Amino acid sequence: MAVRPLKIAVIGVGGTGSSACRYLAKSGHKVTGFEKFQIGHEFGSSHGESRIIRYTYPDLLYTQMMKEAYALWAELEEESSQELVVRCGGLYLGPTEDQHLKLTESALHETRIPYVRMNIQQLESRFPAFRLLPGEHAIYQKESGFLRSSQCVAANVRVARNYGFQLLENTDVTHLLSHDCDILVKTEAGGEYLFDRVIVTAGAWMGRLLSELNLPLAVTRQKVIYLRAAQNSQIFEPDRFPVWIDTTHNFYGFPNDGVVHGIKIASHDHGAVVNPDDVDKTVDSKYIAEVLRIKAMRLPGLSDEVTYATTCLYTSTPDEHFIIDQVPNMPGVCLVSGCSGHGFKFTTLLGKIASEMATGTGHIRELSRFSLQRFQ
Ligand SMILES: Cc1cc2nc3c(=O)[nH]c(=O)nc-3n(C[C@H](O)[C@H](O)[C@H](O)COP(=O)(O)OP(=O)(O)OC[C@H]3O[C@@H](n4cnc5c(N)ncnc54)[C@H](O)[C@@H]3O)c2cc1C
Repeated sequence: MAVRPLKIAVIGVGGTGSSACRYLAKSGHKVTGFEKFQIGHEFGSSHGESRIIRYTYPDLLYTQMMKEAYALWAELEEESSQELVVRCGGLYLGPTEDQHLKLTESALHETRIPYVRMNIQQLESRFPAFRLLPGEHAIYQKESGFLRSSQCVAANVRVARNYGFQLLENTDVTHLLSHDCDILVKTEAGGEYLFDRVIVTAGAWMGRLLSELNLPLAVTRQKVIYLRAAQNSQIFEPDRFPVWIDTTHNFYGFPNDGVVHGIKIASHDHGAVVNPDDVDKTVDSKYIAEVLRIKAMRLPGLSDEVTYATTCLYTSTPDEHFIIDQVPNMPGVCLVSGCSGHGFKFTTLLGKIASEMATGTGHIRELSRFSLQRFQ
């Protein structure tokens, strides 16, 4: 059955927004994306060469959602004729008694996703760059890897454009107003546009655009550094070095991504709360010293030389679950937000869910975990 084309605005064309634009444009809707900066900018949350993709979650719901997300990433790779997922495998490292590891194993078990448990000897013989501490073990899952995040956003936009998607870059949306049966979108430059539906995927700026909702979102500045390999750099290539998450110290990292010189490593601990319009992009020596302390224990084959350092924003909810919901008192407007530092791997699915929510299509999904009501 042919769909009635709707005029739909997507506010914020980052990871989630670009995905929503692609699904909507492919379904035949007239889609306009409003983006405050330019695609590929470094002020939000989706820029850079890598984001971990994995089934390994200490939470069955996310592991199940990743089954759908993996298939959608493969679809994007096919439609864009681009390799976006580097399937280098992944390690979840931590104390054997750690609840995170136990829950992760049980979620994998329940969803019948194969994984391998490794002790110190098994880990070091297969992946020689890593060290385990006494009393720890690792879970290895071969479908883990990383997404080339900036390229994923660009691929969504490119495919969407093939279906008539209109992108307005450097266009900051300041107001959304219900206007009879339509929604009026107002921009900083004085533009006014009417739409049948609006999806808000504004990342770190969500709280500002929908200030009347008083969303409990914390925007934090996260730091990332790359370190040069000390000698044997081959042991950090994707075929011998998986992505990894260290639950003991709350650190994670990647193999050589082939673009930025060095090996990426970062802390998942939330940084300072910031105003997204005024973010200091420098990485301080105290943070670097802490990373070097962890790498000395985990990855002694990395040198102390920082080859690149950058920052990025987390937008987190108190429970670290996403927000996917309709905006109360604004018929036709929905939002996806609060990706809480682990959302990129889901953005393809989140964009699809937002597009279904806006158009009233798709199968019925159980989304109560992600509702706004949970904050009341
Ligand atoms: C250091 C770091 C490491 C991470 N690692 C991982 C990982 O390994 N795996 C993983 O799955 N996730 C990871 N994440 C999280 C993931 O990157 C984010 O959850 C995801 O990118 C969020 O996407 P988004 O679409 O919500 O936000 P964004 O991609 O930031 O998109 C929001 C967009 O909205 C635009 N915008 C905002 N307000 C307006 C407005 N008023 N008008 C017009 N445009 C507007 C912004 O300019 C921006 O482009 C990491 C995040 C960081 C910072």
